[in-house]
Amino acid sequence: MSDCIFCKIAAGEIPADLVYEDDLVVGFRDLNPQAPTHVLLIPRKHIASINELQPEDEPIIGRLYAAAAKIAAQEGFAESGYRTVINCNDDGGQTVFHVHLHLLGGRRMSWPPG
Ligand code: 5GP
Ligand code: ZN
Repeated sequence: MSDCIFCKIAAGEIPADLVYEDDLVVGFRDLNPQAPTHVLLIPRKHIASINELQPEDEPIIGRLYAAAAKIAAQEGFAESGYRTVINCNDDGGQTVFHVHLHLLGGRRMSWPPG
């Protein structure tokens, strides 16, 4: 999608602090981090929200989590723990309509989330 900021990051058209790339997904640091490590994992394919997921997209979602686990290990908090979140639509707090998995680590998370 031509006007999607995350599509532009995936295409290298606008800069981001990339930490992970493979054939299906890209990971980069959030501009407004909510934890010592806050990485966004996105599919290269534009999918607006998890409501729009098609059956053929399911391997992409698996890859988002596999990439998050690799980054958690690299960042050194795989064992101590971390949070992964996909927000959906207004009540979920989604502000960018290209699916993204938040990986938050490096501090203790509270529950329930706000
Ligand atoms: P959401 O609220 O949709 O779940 O999360 C969107 C996230 O994208 C927010 O945490 C926000 O800080 C981040 N974000 C928005 N625009 C940009 C950008 O241009 N670059 C980066 N690195 N992060 C962004
Ligand atoms: Zn997009």
